Amino acid sequence: MRADQKAGCGHDEPALPLSKARDRVCEAAVSVSETESLPIRQALGRVLAEDVRSAIDVPGHANSAMDGYALRAGDLPNEAPRALTLIGAAFAGRPFLGRVNQGQCVRIMTGAPVPDGADTVVMQERVSVDAERVQVNALPAAGANVRQAGEDIKAGQVALEDGVQLRPAHIGLLASIGVAEVTVLRRPRVAFFSTGDELCEVGRPTRPGQIYDSNRYTLFGMLQRLDVEAIDLGVIRDRPEELEAGLARAAEGADLIITSGGVSVGEADYLLEVAERLGKVDFWSVAIKPGRPTVFGKLGDALYLGLPGNPVSVMVTFYQLAKPAIEKLSGLQPREPLLIRALCMATIKNKAGRREFLRGVLSRDETGRYIVSKTGHQGSGILSSMTQANCFIVVPEDSELIEAGSQVDVQPFEALV
Ligand code: AMP
Ligand code: MG
Repeated sequence: MRADQKAGCGHDEPALPLSKARDRVCEAAVSVSETESLPIRQALGRVLAEDVRSAIDVPGHANSAMDGYALRAGDLPNEAPRALTLIGAAFAGRPFLGRVNQGQCVRIMTGAPVPDGADTVVMQERVSVDAERVQVNALPAAGANVRQAGEDIKAGQVALEDGVQLRPAHIGLLASIGVAEVTVLRRPRVAFFSTGDELCEVGRPTRPGQIYDSNRYTLFGMLQRLDVEAIDLGVIRDRPEELEAGLARAAEGADLIITSGGVSVGEADYLLEVAERLGKVDFWSVAIKPGRPTVFGKLGDALYLGLPGNPVSVMVTFYQLAKPAIEKLSGLQPREPLLIRALCMATIKNKAGRREFLRGVLSRDETGRYIVSKTGHQGSGILSSMTQANCFIVVPEDSELIEAGSQVDVQPFEALV
């Protein structure tokens, strides 16, 4: 790294706005193209590589939506009651094989095929039964309570399009059309390592001045949730040669390399210069707090994100920059984080020109309004602020003061499916 450039990424220099940084990361990240065939359960979370067409109608036959009696709509007079002759029963999986003729009906359970001749089901609560005589007391509309063949999916139809991410409903739908295996894109390979002479592996006693390496664990967790092939390369010390060797090795097999630490302006921060030597650096300073010194570039065919060392900065920059990159690599369109407007319970000061991500607790008050409060200490090293939070409070670049009682944007950590 040239000294002049490193000075240029000092803390008082203008940094790239987060939206621009995100755009540049997303532009550089292109979908993997290799595919694999997987049983549908294992394909959960993966992206379909080709359209899936249904060979069958779903449902496969007209069937009853109720427990009741199958009859012919034409048999019903304009006024109740009307007595029909009961000629048999139809169960789900055990159809009635005969035909329902004029003046007849069949006992039918939910899911049972509607017998030939019948077209309507009357609920069992609407009839009185006396041996073989079924008296219909309240007339159903013609066709009532019948689920038509193919009303969910028709034979020959594209049931799922390529590019779709398979969620629980999708693998259920694949099962409903009898598809046991699908072709999906391979998972992106993400190599990651921690950097720092002070880092000690969990399970070992620390020596003076050492701290435990927590970033590799939060990174592992975040990667696991995004369903990538995570390649853990351990800890690399603050030695330019070792960092260079580590990055070069990672670049061989990975689609994305993520590191933590060593990207700031300290004397043991070498990753920016090493990345410049090995490849091409696009940006190294983003206008966010925490997480300003974040490096992005390309090393060979691999994308490289050098995240800062502070544990909260790692998580904030991961969700704002690494996650969209991984979505693109996975074959998805990056999803804008869900934003909720909530009433802010605290006054928040921000330095204009950067976006701040505070850790918040989102809830609803007695009147049903969303309210958000800050978790305690907000330092970028306070990882417990992340364990206590359920959302980020997003303070925009153009906002220097958010008064308690005004509205703020909140990014909840959880969404439903
Ligand atoms: P750095 O950017 O390397 O100067 O790191 C910034 C801060 O984050 C320092 O206090 C580091 O000790 C801390 N840090 C760096 N890497 C890790 C890690 N893997 N786990 C926990 N803390 C870390
Ligand atoms: Mg360091």
